[in-house]
Amino acid sequence: MTTADTDLPAPDAYVDRHRSHIESLLDRTPTKLLINGVWRDATDGSTFEVENPATGRILATVASATRQDAEHAMDAAADAQQSWARTPARYRSDILRDAFDLLGERAEDFARLITLEMGKPLADARGEVTYGAEFLRWFSEEAVRDYGRYVDSPEGTLRMLVTRRPVGPCLLVTPWNFPLAMATRKVAPALAAGCTTILKPARLTPLTALYFAQLMVDAGVPRGVLNVLPAATAAQVSTPILEDPRLRKISFTGSTPVGIELMKAASDNVLRSSMELGGNGPLIVFEDADLDKAVAGAIAAKMRNMGEACTAANRLLVHQSVADEFIDRFAAALRDLVVGNGLDDGIAVGPLIDAKARDAVAGLVADAVRRGAKVVVGGTSLDGPGYFYAPTLLRDVPADARVIREEIFGPVAPVVTFSTEDEAVEMANSTEYGLASYVFTEDISRGLRVSDRLEFGLLGLNVGVISNAAAPFGGVKQSGLGREGGPEGIAEYTSTRYIGLESPWK
Ligand code: NAD
Repeated sequence: MTTADTDLPAPDAYVDRHRSHIESLLDRTPTKLLINGVWRDATDGSTFEVENPATGRILATVASATRQDAEHAMDAAADAQQSWARTPARYRSDILRDAFDLLGERAEDFARLITLEMGKPLADARGEVTYGAEFLRWFSEEAVRDYGRYVDSPEGTLRMLVTRRPVGPCLLVTPWNFPLAMATRKVAPALAAGCTTILKPARLTPLTALYFAQLMVDAGVPRGVLNVLPAATAAQVSTPILEDPRLRKISFTGSTPVGIELMKAASDNVLRSSMELGGNGPLIVFEDADLDKAVAGAIAAKMRNMGEACTAANRLLVHQSVADEFIDRFAAALRDLVVGNGLDDGIAVGPLIDAKARDAVAGLVADAVRRGAKVVVGGTSLDGPGYFYAPTLLRDVPADARVIREEIFGPVAPVVTFSTEDEAVEMANSTEYGLASYVFTEDISRGLRVSDRLEFGLLGLNVGVISNAAAPFGGVKQSGLGREGGPEGIAEYTSTRYIGLESPWK
């Protein structure tokens, strides 16, 4: 592994203090493929580079899986499936619990690795580690509680035995914006249910997934049960695996267009499919909202992770009678956010993932301004190195602006005003997406009434962050299919088997 990134820009007190830790962390991070319990180079020796988006420097060179590697990983996952499915649930539970404990011990390593390759501030990265670890603990607990039922049929002619069986080998494809949590949210329930897995992390952030894979090996995951295939070209890996009839499930988190492609490919083998896709979350502030809560919630829902979250509040819909005050307070809070390298102390907003992402955000803002929106705060890309965009607040944004219709994935908050509850609901629902939504009101009956009318899988009522390992996470409409987390999360990796028995009472 190269350690070029330890040559970070000075003056940087944090990096000076932690230089040796970062060097040793990068040295300890695997950079090969994990297939059948063995770290291997790609069959053709190909590699790709991983960059630090805060500095533009190369962090590491990672093996890039080929079609042949994908076939080997599929063989390993298929070969291990039966024996893994037959292990007692307590055995699988103990491995996941050990993994949770190890993650606690290595938490700071994971946080720094996430910040290094993805850019989010260290405080956000620590939050992701806590959130991501909880999936290991939650599913270690769920593994032993995957109950079926044994009941008489209504006519009394049969005994009905219903059990849940692991669905079989799974392909797990994850995005770059939460490189640890999106992996644990899939790997933990799959392993708990008794499924073997092939994890394909995002090209931009494979290091966290590889470090996590080593942790799982250390926790005792048997060979073949977790295979990890970083790749420069995702389809080169996913296509042969999806074509293989031994694969039984795909779980994908990423953009809607790629999700649609993968669903089409999955249909050839009638694969179980879980799709966690894009969002265009509304955050509604009613005239009776507590504005302190609404501003704090909006900052969290919009600016956490630099706005690069599928749950991000994409559109701030504010009642016209409180719009000026909300905008003033929100603008003041935005001006307080410090932008910089996420490894430094006190940083609230890190870089975007790459130049393309930064330029896409700049394009959305330019389009909104062209259509009449006014920039209250920010509105510009910041000088490099790194791919920074200033936290931005736009007002008077017309409904046809792209920033209202598309997923922004950046620290840009467009405010739109409304005058009635019906109008707010209609505006909120006028999107093909349906993942997260947020409502701020002090009237609980209004909150519940509006929540019934919002076409979204998730709703935050007077809060801006709602993700939790114990909650069923997922969307409706083009935001996806299935749920991750909660008791629902393990059900995604099981199929239901019914046995009809002769009744003892006949
Ligand atoms: P992406 O769709 O570009 O990539 C996601 C993953 O799919 C990556 O591992 C990528 O390498 C892989 N991939 C890309 N093209 C592929 C192909 N043709 N075949 C197989 N795999 C392919 O998304 P991204 O840019 O990494 O992530 C951002 C998107 O993810 C946003 O739209 C965001 O809303 C969404 N997201 C959704 C959730 C959720 O839970 N709903 C969570 C996080 C991110």
